[in-house]
Amino acid sequence: MKLRGLFILWTLVVFVSLGLSAYRVYADAEKTARIEASAHFNQVVNMRHWVASLGGVYAPITEQTQPNPFLVGKVAERDITTPLGKELTLLNPAYVTRLLAAGLVEKYQVHARLVSTNPVWEQNRADAWETRAIGAFLQKQKTEVIEISGDFKNADHMRYIAPLYLQQGCMGCHAAEGKVGDLRGAISVSIPMAPHYEVALRNARTITIVYGGIWIFGLGGISFFGRKINHALERLRDSESVLKEAQGIAHLGSWSLDHKTQVLEWSDEIYNIFGYHEGHIIATYENFLERVHPDERSVVDHAYWESVRKNEPYDIVHRIVRKDDGGVRYVRERCKHDCGTGGDVLISIGTVQDITDRVLAEQKIHQLAFQDVSTGMPNETKFLEGLGLCINKDAVGFVASIELAGMGDIVGTFGLEGSELIVYEMGIRLNREMNASSIVAKVGPRLFKILYVCEDGEKEHIRAIAQRLFNAAQEPFDLMGSSVLVNVYMGTAIIDSGTSTPQMMVTQTEMALHAANRSPQSEHVYYQPSIQEQFRRNTQLVSWMRTALATQVFKMFFQPQIDLRTNVVVGCEALIRWPVTSEEWITPGEFIPIAEKSGLIGDITRWTVEESCRIAASWFHEHGIKMRTGINISAEELASEDFFAYLSGFVKATKLPMQSFEIEITETALMKDVVVAGKNLQKIRDLGIGIAVDDFGTGQASMAYLKQFPIDKLKIDQAFIKGAPNDKTDQEIITSIITLAHTLGIGVIAEGAENKEHIDLLTALGCDEVQGYYLGRPMSADDFLQFVKNYPQ
Ligand code: C2E
Ligand code: CA
Ligand code: CA
Repeated sequence: MKLRGLFILWTLVVFVSLGLSAYRVYADAEKTARIEASAHFNQVVNMRHWVASLGGVYAPITEQTQPNPFLVGKVAERDITTPLGKELTLLNPAYVTRLLAAGLVEKYQVHARLVSTNPVWEQNRADAWETRAIGAFLQKQKTEVIEISGDFKNADHMRYIAPLYLQQGCMGCHAAEGKVGDLRGAISVSIPMAPHYEVALRNARTITIVYGGIWIFGLGGISFFGRKINHALERLRDSESVLKEAQGIAHLGSWSLDHKTQVLEWSDEIYNIFGYHEGHIIATYENFLERVHPDERSVVDHAYWESVRKNEPYDIVHRIVRKDDGGVRYVRERCKHDCGTGGDVLISIGTVQDITDRVLAEQKIHQLAFQDVSTGMPNETKFLEGLGLCINKDAVGFVASIELAGMGDIVGTFGLEGSELIVYEMGIRLNREMNASSIVAKVGPRLFKILYVCEDGEKEHIRAIAQRLFNAAQEPFDLMGSSVLVNVYMGTAIIDSGTSTPQMMVTQTEMALHAANRSPQSEHVYYQPSIQEQFRRNTQLVSWMRTALATQVFKMFFQPQIDLRTNVVVGCEALIRWPVTSEEWITPGEFIPIAEKSGLIGDITRWTVEESCRIAASWFHEHGIKMRTGINISAEELASEDFFAYLSGFVKATKLPMQSFEIEITETALMKDVVVAGKNLQKIRDLGIGIAVDDFGTGQASMAYLKQFPIDKLKIDQAFIKGAPNDKTDQEIITSIITLAHTLGIGVIAEGAENKEHIDLLTALGCDEVQGYYLGRPMSADDFLQFVKNYPQ
């Protein structure tokens, strides 16, 4: 497009120049013609003056030079004969002029003649053009008239006419026509233009060829350089648009500020970043500052002018508020300054980059690194960070771990969403109990960690807050209209400012939580050094237990169970014993929970089943003693598939009736996984093995479950028996358990009967059977055999 314009312009220039040159050629041709005409004029005039000054010249009489009839009577010697007889005649100026003009016509086609409005010879009469010129000479308006006329001789001629005045030499013939100096007529010269035009045409042709060459050469040049320039321009435009595009992609705008003129220039991307529509606003520092977030405006303003004052580069990240949508974005601004010789900043050049995406990504990464994804609560990293800061500041308070247990049942009943909702609600609940300097973090699927910073370090006060937190955590949850109780365990460690370290606090709360998990008494345990001691002992016990199992150190003891109506030994409970030395025995109350946690319970239960069956079989087969043997089974064993096969295999091997065996399963174990427990119990029941619910009254078994399970007997927990004689409530509980059992059509046994009073009371309340120290302590198989044999019937 641009190239075509250049072609047209070049063509115009060449053609106008050619036109001008051609015009000059023709003008020069006319100029030459004029010179030629005036030369002929001068030639004629000079000749005439010369002849006039001589009074005429003699020439031999020839055909052209005949004696002049007009001189008859005017000159004395018109014709003379030379001494040698040559005949001469006098030629006057007019005659010579005529002869000269005739020669000019003949030789050069130049017509020159003397003209007058009042000629002596009629042929010298002026034509119309000549008459107008003579008139102008008379009026003294012109001294010469030149014209190119096509009319003359039917071809282009240049006509030149100038006045002819009377001179002294003319007076001989023309005295009658006036005085010296008067206008006598004019000399009119006409020269043909054809030869001049021919030359002009030739020159014009040459010029045209030259110009044509220049034109073509120029076109080539334009085309060549034009293309190059166009290409360069295109590349420039391309690089500009690439730069513009790149600025857009990088959200990077650039600006410059001339401090002298105060002219600020922004690139397009700056308008985009600030949310200004290009053209709607001019780039000014005020317009920039207006977009800076109000909270950071003064900081940014100060930072910029300080950098100008110190002539130092400036690099700052701040927020802006976009003009169009009011969106808040993060930008990074950098600038540097150029100084004059005086050290004053002349120009500042800078960039503005929208780094919102990067900042948000960093925030997200930070969030992911420090937050629990499902609840948005702080995670363990954040917790440890806060704990470290707090402990370094010698804060007082406590650190706690809270665990939600038994969530499997909630998932079974309310689905995964139900359990997640409870965990989420728990987070909210714990947060509500916090003060501003404390942290609740979710560190596991069902585990929370708490750092509570108290204002005063009074231990009692700190304990009261921890207890309040535990109580809040234990409150039932409202889930889809149902009130749901969740087992909550809490381990708390009180910060000992000065000696505590973050890692120490974490370890202590974990130990306390562990202890809470294990403890049958309390679900909230405070860390104390004895717990650590306990941990050490537990670890030791696990190792010893392995050895004890391998070396068959364990023993089975049996405690009698008496029918209260008949006073007959109807059964026994098999209880494991672990003699470490002849004096020291480790109680099952201590090692069975450790065995359960460490996974050794399976081996232990198998051993007890094996041993109990073996002994019961020997009593029966060798001594004819028929009775029921109760074996304690842990929750883990009840849930295991192969345990049933194992149990039935061993019981069958005794060749005793299945009814000779009973398994004892605690109420709590029963409720751990009601579905699995129900299924396995049914299998055991189908075989004919009895099922007793141990420690009944301490757990949360509901009537509904009791009806579902194939139970034969309830075993009232010894805690109720202990208090019963003096405690009305205990008595009422015992009564209601007995009633419940009888309503369900199953048996009931009380354990822990330590005295006669217990026996009497239980008998009075209608209990079926009893077990306790009063009637018989757990004893070895041999002792038990003797006991049975000796028991008064
Ligand atoms: P448990 O099943 O409730 O067993 C009854 C416990 O009460 C036994 O303690 C028994 O010695 C004790 N006891 C019986 N009568 C009285 C009484 O009149 N007064 C008092 N103060 N205590 C009485 P033991 O043998 O120390 O067992 C403790 C717990 O260890 C048992 O509670 C049971 O849960 C577990 N255990 C004992 N042997 C086994 C076993 O072979 N297998 C499994 N899995 N657990 C066992
Ligand atoms: Ca038991
Ligand atoms: Ca018991």
